[in-house]
Amino acid sequence: MARRIPEPFRIKMVEPIRQTTSEDRREALEVAGWNPFLLKAEDVYIDLLTDSGTGAMSDRQWAGLMMGDEAYAGSRNFLHLADTVRELFGYAHTIPTHQGRGAEQILFPELVKRCRGERPVFLSNYHFDTTKAHVELAGARAVNVLTPQALDTGTAYDWKGDFDLPRLGEIVAAEGDNVAAVIITITCNSAGGQPVSMGNIRAVSELARARGIPVVIDAARFAENAWFIRERDPAYAGASIAAIVREMFDCGDMFTMSAKKDGLVNIGGLCCFKDDEELFRAAQVRCVPMEGFVTYGGLAGRDMEALAIGLKEGLDDAFLSYRIGQVAYLGERLREGGVPIQTPTGGHAVFVDAKLLLPHIPAEQFPAHALACELYLEGGVRAVEIGSLLLGRNPQSGKQEPSPFELMRLTIPRRVYTNDHMDYIADCLIAVKRRASEVRGLTFDYEPPILRHFMARLRPV
Ligand SMILES: *Cc1c(COP(=O)(O)O)cnc(C)c1O
Repeated sequence: MARRIPEPFRIKMVEPIRQTTSEDRREALEVAGWNPFLLKAEDVYIDLLTDSGTGAMSDRQWAGLMMGDEAYAGSRNFLHLADTVRELFGYAHTIPTHQGRGAEQILFPELVKRCRGERPVFLSNYHFDTTKAHVELAGARAVNVLTPQALDTGTAYDWKGDFDLPRLGEIVAAEGDNVAAVIITITCNSAGGQPVSMGNIRAVSELARARGIPVVIDAARFAENAWFIRERDPAYAGASIAAIVREMFDCGDMFTMSAKKDGLVNIGGLCCFKDDEELFRAAQVRCVPMEGFVTYGGLAGRDMEALAIGLKEGLDDAFLSYRIGQVAYLGERLREGGVPIQTPTGGHAVFVDAKLLLPHIPAEQFPAHALACELYLEGGVRAVEIGSLLLGRNPQSGKQEPSPFELMRLTIPRRVYTNDHMDYIADCLIAVKRRASEVRGLTFDYEPPILRHFMARLRPV
């Protein structure tokens, strides 16, 4: 195995976390209706629910908070943020938003308004769930055009976030004026944090531009995508992360960003435009009633300062190598222990294939959710199901949709847990694997009509 990459930071402040007993955890899980979303965070020892907004800020970012200029309009922190966007991405116009979905809600309705076709459609490698929701709220359709290689968890492929280019060409030709925009999601969260190659980004952008279709970058994990390009594409072996970022963003016309990921802040987002002043103004008009005045967009001045600093820290080589190396290390430990995972591991999470680990539990008894419950009982580690429970029922027929995956996601927050925590997580999951045949599936006590995974209550069958 490759040498472990030690943390490129030292610890200046600590937050105690509490290990509980097996009895405590069983009781907490009963009270939570066998749904880790309903646990109190204090009853969790290591929390891998999400990497969104759960990262640790640096000493510089905390210092930045003290420099907050809380002016309603024209805050110096806004100016610093807009300058940083110009410097890193080359985009002239910046609107801060409260988080990624705030950017989606002020941009998408304007793209739909501009669309000349009767039945507007957005095409993406994969729409993130809130992205799809905002496309549909704006009255358009969301179509995913992901490479088929992404669906095969067992086979390694470097660019599982890529668009299926031939298919994209066909759809663009068939839809004509209906295409409101192409959204390039880097990295592709829903495919497991998988990267999009530079060649694919460029080809998608050229295809869209030839037809006057706007190119939106969904940029939540832009730095991780750049790191993968340098790592895996020999043409970029000697390039700086900053240069790769610039080249990726040259392929887009505008971007939406959840800054809670690679932006290294706990809250915040961005909606930025390269040079389309008309669209920028239209989004600004929408920003005021939805997010707040155009120079704060739902954020405090201090939040914008922390983000301006975080955007640059997120590009640091040592940080990215450690971050993605830590995810790979956890994946490697699990693979050695015989736990089946999505390969190669992505930027932000390890996905465990529960279909393979718990073959005796049928999809309608939610094997990946059962696995997440067992992992909590074993060691107080909270993970999340990405499978049948999340997918839900067909709204017309009321039948469970067949899910292509039954995955449990171990999502690693940035700069929060050490490699010793990774070992602990791997040890717990390997212990669950040893008693896998005893793990039981789950059935509903209460099934909410929509977005059921958040509030559902279950019990073992
Ligand atoms: C998190 C995320 C979003 C939504 O951002 P929020 O900050 O959660 O509103 C959109 N797209 C992608 C790819 C994301 O990862």
